[in-house]
Amino acid sequence: AAGEGFDAEEVEGAIEEAGHGPLPVLAVVGRPNVGKSTLVNRIIGRREAVVEDRPGVTRDRVTYEAEWAGRRFKVVDTGGWEQDVFGIDASVAAQAEFAIDAADAVVFVVDATVGATDTDEAVVKLLRRAGKPVVLAANKVDGPSAEADAAMLWSLGLGEPFPVSALHGRGTGDLLDEVLKALPEAPEQTFGTAVGGPRRIALIGRPNVGKSSLLNKVAGEERVVVNELAGTTRDPVDELIELGGKTWKFVDTAGIRKKVHLQEGADYYASLRTAAAVEKAEVAVVLIDTTDSISVQDQRIITMAVEAGRAIVIAYNKWDELDEERRYYLEREIETEMQQVSWAPRVNVSARTGRHMDRLVPAIETALAGWETRVPTGRLNAFLGELVAAHPHPIRGGKQPRILFGTQAGTKPPRFVLFASGFLEHGYRRFVERRLREEFGFEGTPIHISVRVRE
Ligand code: GDP
Ligand code: GDP
Repeated sequence: AAGEGFDAEEVEGAIEEAGHGPLPVLAVVGRPNVGKSTLVNRIIGRREAVVEDRPGVTRDRVTYEAEWAGRRFKVVDTGGWEQDVFGIDASVAAQAEFAIDAADAVVFVVDATVGATDTDEAVVKLLRRAGKPVVLAANKVDGPSAEADAAMLWSLGLGEPFPVSALHGRGTGDLLDEVLKALPEAPEQTFGTAVGGPRRIALIGRPNVGKSSLLNKVAGEERVVVNELAGTTRDPVDELIELGGKTWKFVDTAGIRKKVHLQEGADYYASLRTAAAVEKAEVAVVLIDTTDSISVQDQRIITMAVEAGRAIVIAYNKWDELDEERRYYLEREIETEMQQVSWAPRVNVSARTGRHMDRLVPAIETALAGWETRVPTGRLNAFLGELVAAHPHPIRGGKQPRILFGTQAGTKPPRFVLFASGFLEHGYRRFVERRLREEFGFEGTPIHISVRVRE
């Protein structure tokens, strides 16, 4: 239907922003053979790859951790992404676009000895559109005589070209100094600071699922508006609501109650608001309208919360309207469409009648408990040892990648780092995640697994 879809680019941007790990990300892009891989190797100094699963992205993202002048960041290697069925220009553009999307800043590598080509110009267009900070590396400036070639690249309109020789290391220090200026500081860990304060809940879901009704139902007379800012409907308003003997903070409720943008663009604003609310919350309660089919839009909203790493509860609303037949189909839809959050606690509610409102808080508490779970390293490695012995990774190219050990690097949500002797296939990582959940719970929380491979 018209207006059903989100503006993909903006939403992707919001998702990426919310979904970053703790370190800022640098993408190195450019045509084949300009020296990207050489430069990446120069920047990272050693080969330590991190493979991450990113929902909605078919290709695994390979990143490397780097450090310069005491600051750590991730480098996305796009070097291996060029074998494509499309023409070389298309594939370069596609890989660059993908990398740029996921990055906080970009190093655009051009071969100064060749000069700017049409493909380079095409990438410049992409970079302009993306609006990310760009540092222009004029590569293969192996000696002073090639400096003039580098200067020619002012013509690209990306500011000062930094002459470097990725091969010999010439000029890369200056380049990295510039990169650090372009990268944001590592984002603050906002959780944990508010110890003892009310837990923060975002009530999300597509328009008309019943967010406002649910808020009114649970709030009753208890509603306290925390930081009501006079003026526009865009102002976030948090409300303190007492439920189950505790005080909870429902974040960004202004947009829920005031329905202004119901005409064109409503979904677009709704999606931005969802992203903002999710960003501020610890747990997202996702409402689904059971009288309607579960849609792509529902799934996108869930993906936002998953990618942001929030605890998640799914509330199936309007349960009062379900007849036998619809219920039958609903359960089948849940099986097929809600796979990505099969671990989330589920409550079947009616904001109209108040059905099962008392189950909301226990579900939220379960999800938050999973979100904060920490597995001691000893237990984790005992588990991993048994797992690897019983289910070794398939042999590939005569080699058998092995998980050597693992550790839980963080909580909220649980983040694991596995150290392996070779790349672990997607299917195997999924398997490890499934087994981790079976063993340790993690109900109501996404878990993040990255694999470090020593090559
Ligand atoms: P990529 O396809 O962009 O990742 O490029 P590579 O890093 O694989 O480099 C392509 C070729 O350029 C290789 O033969 C490199 O040795 C060479 N190369 C890379 N950087 C430099 C440099 O700074 N100077 C010179 N002379 N050659 C370089
Ligand atoms: P929001 O856009 O997500 O805030 O949705 P609203 O709370 O405004 O609800 C949209 C419509 O669904 C309204 O007409 C509500 O009365 C109706 N509604 C909300 N919750 C329920 C419910 O549990 N059962 C039924 N039958 N209708 C509901």
